Amino acid sequence: MRRRRFGKTELLVSVFSLGTMRFDSAEDACETVCAAIAQGINHLETAPAYGSSECYIGQALSAIASTEESIRREQLVITSKLTPTLTADQVDKAIDDSLERLGTDYLDCVAIHGINTLAHLTWAQTHMLAPLAQAQAEGRVRHVGFSTHGPLDLILKAIATGFFSFINLHYNYFFQRNAAAIAQAHQQDMGIFIISPADKAGMLYTPPDRLKQLCDPYDPLLLNYRWLLSDSRITTLSVGPKDPHELDWPLQIADQDGPLNENEQQAIERLDQAQIAQLGTDRCAQCHECLPCPEVINIPEALRLRNLAIAYDMQAFGQYRYGMFENAGHWFWGNKGSRCNDCGDCLPRCPESLNIPALLRDTHQRLKGKQRRRLWED
Ligand code: SF4
Ligand code: SF4
Repeated sequence: MRRRRFGKTELLVSVFSLGTMRFDSAEDACETVCAAIAQGINHLETAPAYGSSECYIGQALSAIASTEESIRREQLVITSKLTPTLTADQVDKAIDDSLERLGTDYLDCVAIHGINTLAHLTWAQTHMLAPLAQAQAEGRVRHVGFSTHGPLDLILKAIATGFFSFINLHYNYFFQRNAAAIAQAHQQDMGIFIISPADKAGMLYTPPDRLKQLCDPYDPLLLNYRWLLSDSRITTLSVGPKDPHELDWPLQIADQDGPLNENEQQAIERLDQAQIAQLGTDRCAQCHECLPCPEVINIPEALRLRNLAIAYDMQAFGQYRYGMFENAGHWFWGNKGSRCNDCGDCLPRCPESLNIPALLRDTHQRLKGKQRRRLWED
């Protein structure tokens, strides 16, 4: 497993990190943590919000410590998180609680979990950074960063504070909106952790035939991983298995982190061209100039899902994500396209001259389905 420097933390982190939110039992967790470490993963990522995850990891590490292959604590990087609503006293207690559940006396990294709104960022700056700095001075926490599902301007603001050493965010071939955040985080020498590059990138464990054909001879999931790992600014990708077997597929490419080869570049080019050919003049260019919408419709994200559904037959993924509008709060903001009242405010702002109300109606027809709530999966 290749390792990369996690920005200014100076930690060396494996290019895949173990997300630990999907374990059903302590046994599954123990087997999966052992298998991940055996295959070279040295970064375990958890959160109090992930159910029993911290306890399971603590039990797994205790079990590993009692075996002959015991590994030392300092060979692992452990990240946990704190919600951006805690008071100073609560931060202090939350750190101690995480340490106790994990059975360790320090956390390599603490991420503020989900800086998704300006209120979160302001709260974190006002109430959380001082107790976190105190925990760093005491050696209970080594590095502080944040995770986010928020809009790009907010992410850039949070990076610009200079308070954070690493960032966990969404970014992948199918969602490149956060490219400027990757550039700015890199420029500030932050570690960069990519959230859910399989499921939230496009349910890439179950790709539609059209996507498979366009990527052929590459697997869409692995091609997306390769696209990310060919970018040396990115440190590590999250993989979130339920059991050890689910590590096998992603980790096939754990040693392939060089530039894309010619055939891989051609596959990416086919994906680029398919959007242009299939969507024609209806393609949303994802510039976000149309916002804000008085009906709080997340126009660019709705039309991105339409782009993917039409270009690559990613209909099921589109339904999955579209169904989260109006159901996931700040984790996935925005109302559905059916709320459009044809006010026309967005029209002059669209450089592509798209008929946004018509496209939103079409998107709603294509992607409306059962409502979904957000799962903890970052
Ligand atoms: S036309 Fe529809 S999408 Fe555009 S701003 Fe008005 S309500 Fe929003
Ligand atoms: S302004 Fe037009 S092209 Fe840009 S994101 Fe909005 S709808 Fe898409």
